[in-house]
Amino acid sequence: MHNELRYSGWSVDCISPIGSDWIGTTWISLVGRMIQDKANTWRADLPADHLIRMDRVRLSLCGLGLGDALGELLNTCPHTAQERLKAQELPSGPWIHTDDTEMAISIAGILKTHGRIDQDGLAKRFARRFEREPDRGYGKMTRIQLREAATGGDWKQLSSSAFCGQGSLGNGGAMRVAPLGDYFSGDIERCIDEARLSALVTHTHSEGVAGTIAVAIAAAVASQFQNQAFVDWSESVFDAVLRHTPESSVRRKLVLASEMGRETPLAVAAKLLGNGSQVTAADTVPFCMWVAAHRGNSFIDAIGSAISVDGDCDTNAAIVGGIVALLTGWEGIPKAWIEAWESVNL
Ligand SMILES: [Mg+2]
Repeated sequence: MHNELRYSGWSVDCISPIGSDWIGTTWISLVGRMIQDKANTWRADLPADHLIRMDRVRLSLCGLGLGDALGELLNTCPHTAQERLKAQELPSGPWIHTDDTEMAISIAGILKTHGRIDQDGLAKRFARRFEREPDRGYGKMTRIQLREAATGGDWKQLSSSAFCGQGSLGNGGAMRVAPLGDYFSGDIERCIDEARLSALVTHTHSEGVAGTIAVAIAAAVASQFQNQAFVDWSESVFDAVLRHTPESSVRRKLVLASEMGRETPLAVAAKLLGNGSQVTAADTVPFCMWVAAHRGNSFIDAIGSAISVDGDCDTNAAIVGGIVALLTGWEGIPKAWIEAWESVNL
């Protein structure tokens, strides 16, 4: 009879035969050697302020998750969302989030362990969470990619061959990236590089990448304005986002968004900038950026505004929530909402 020892998913040794004292005589010394040899498969080169960065990542993830869950909850009656949120007329929890938050949790997780985007590790995390709960509202192409990746497919090949080799220009990279922007808020060039790496795992089209970079930059700037929600940050955020977002339809519509004042009616802004109904980065990110820029002094107002124009309600509110939470801080987010959201461990 053989007893197989396993460590980190690998079968590494066998003990045979098993006697009554095998734990003390064999097992403990073998496991000790295995842990010494294989304790880490990567060098965790974490920055000195890693824990402080991760605290901010949790704040952004909370805003993103709440926006996502509320957007999903209210997407059948988006036009009443603002009033219902302000009046706290909401069902009791748990409020269930969708794919946006599932993927953002994977990004936050890889930052927690690696302090950077390790694409292989991120692809594995995406696939593992999808495998565990495939009914979180993933888009059709993402479902195909993650199902293949979960069964050993090469994420690079899957991502670059999506949509007949064009790659995805969807809003999936942008919807999950705000916590990353916050982690790298002190180094904008690094923020851009890491945002790009995070997008490419599923979205290789330049539009999908541009939308991801734009949201990451906005989150990085928001982080610098943390707890200053009373300050008008619209000029600062548009300056930075336009400076760093690559030339694309996303950027051209961001220029338009930057020229539209706060007083523009939401419906008009959504008509000109898009509301995510096409689920592309260009149809989603500019409107979300405009909402975050001009409604950033109130988490409730920002989330309500993002949902109210219909379209991709959960993603719009996830993007806005992930950015605006950094401006308002924990104090600006209703405690009852955090308690009603399904529990997320990070
Ligand atoms: Mg979703």
